[in-house]
Amino acid sequence: MAWTGSNLPAVGEYNQTVVLDAIRRHPDGSTRSKLASVTGLSSMTVANVCRRLLASRLIDEHGTRVSGPGKPAGILRLNPDGGYSVGVHIDPAVVTYVLVDLAGEVRDHTRSGTPSAQDPRSVIDEMARSIDALITTSGVDRSRVLGIGIATPGPVNIEDGIVLNPPMLPHWHKVPLRAALSEATGLPVVLEKDVTAAAVAELWYAEPSDSRDFAFVYYGTGLGTGIAVAGEVVRGISSNAGDPGHMTVDPNGPVCVCGRRGCVGYSVVPRALVERAQREGIMSGTLPAGPAGIAELDEAFSRLAAMATGGDQRAHAVIVDAARQLARAVVVIVNLLDIERVIFGGPFWSRIAPIVLDVLPGVVRDDPALVPPHAVRFTESAIPVDVAAVGAASLVFDSTFSPRASTLLISAD
Ligand SMILES: [Zn+2]
Repeated sequence: MAWTGSNLPAVGEYNQTVVLDAIRRHPDGSTRSKLASVTGLSSMTVANVCRRLLASRLIDEHGTRVSGPGKPAGILRLNPDGGYSVGVHIDPAVVTYVLVDLAGEVRDHTRSGTPSAQDPRSVIDEMARSIDALITTSGVDRSRVLGIGIATPGPVNIEDGIVLNPPMLPHWHKVPLRAALSEATGLPVVLEKDVTAAAVAELWYAEPSDSRDFAFVYYGTGLGTGIAVAGEVVRGISSNAGDPGHMTVDPNGPVCVCGRRGCVGYSVVPRALVERAQREGIMSGTLPAGPAGIAELDEAFSRLAAMATGGDQRAHAVIVDAARQLARAVVVIVNLLDIERVIFGGPFWSRIAPIVLDVLPGVVRDDPALVPPHAVRFTESAIPVDVAAVGAASLVFDSTFSPRASTLLISAD
């Protein structure tokens, strides 16, 4: 999507984000006249904005390009070291930290076990220490770290930066994470539901030709959906949009926590697949209940997926059934949003990806319930590892640089 600027003096900040966004979308470099034509801003406005961006080192000028008569034009590119962002993904089993530069490159990353301390203070201190260590070991200029983005399982209270009572994180009850972490690190902090952060990352890393209407099916310990419509992430009024979990995909399926049968968020998640395989004697063992069993779940799920892709017919059937059930939910999501693309990702996704992508697209296409007459593409995330953490880092850039309508409203106040 091309953003068009405004030549009104009151929205100078907005024009800056418009120009920066246009520069970012052309990694090979842009001239000032090209920027003027793609943004709709006057040559003088572009020249002024570029002067400010060069002075703040957010962009660099590399060489010149000769096109037609007149003076050779300077080529402007994003300066990857102009700014950095820290992304944190809190998962039931592991906390992932990434340091991302302005060009979107992951410069460094670390992981640690999810703190389960009763005392939120010690959790915050531990996270602040990990972030500090990440910035130090990466060797980047600390003064250029713009902020911290946190992606966490929902439900969340974005406005107050509070993690509500997420399933699988028993001691994380109403933790005021954003304020506490900002106080501990001295950096601005933004917080987002993990599936929404993943959708933000997909938009941030999208190729210019990529569709900006999509659903991101996030396959983690649970199942979630990040939604983008017309290039904007859909958050809902409480920023908790995108929970398809209680869609019925198997009327005869097991009883969900909600009391219904065969809910997709209950039937296709890693735990359900492993438990079925164990019940049917395809694998041995039983999973411990609750968060204590997450390491075992991870290991058992890897084993099941390896058996399935390695030719074990019964293990293969478990994944195929899950793919068929997931397809029923995908049809409803596509119908609801009339989207062109469904993206799959998340921490457990890659292990079952070959089988699901072999089965699901055909099942969706052949489903008589599918409404939109156009083709639907099924792709994998542009960020194969740590998509939620990278998404969390993108949130910082997004809230700092993205020329969205909301940004315009705020700067126009
Ligand atoms: Zn349910």
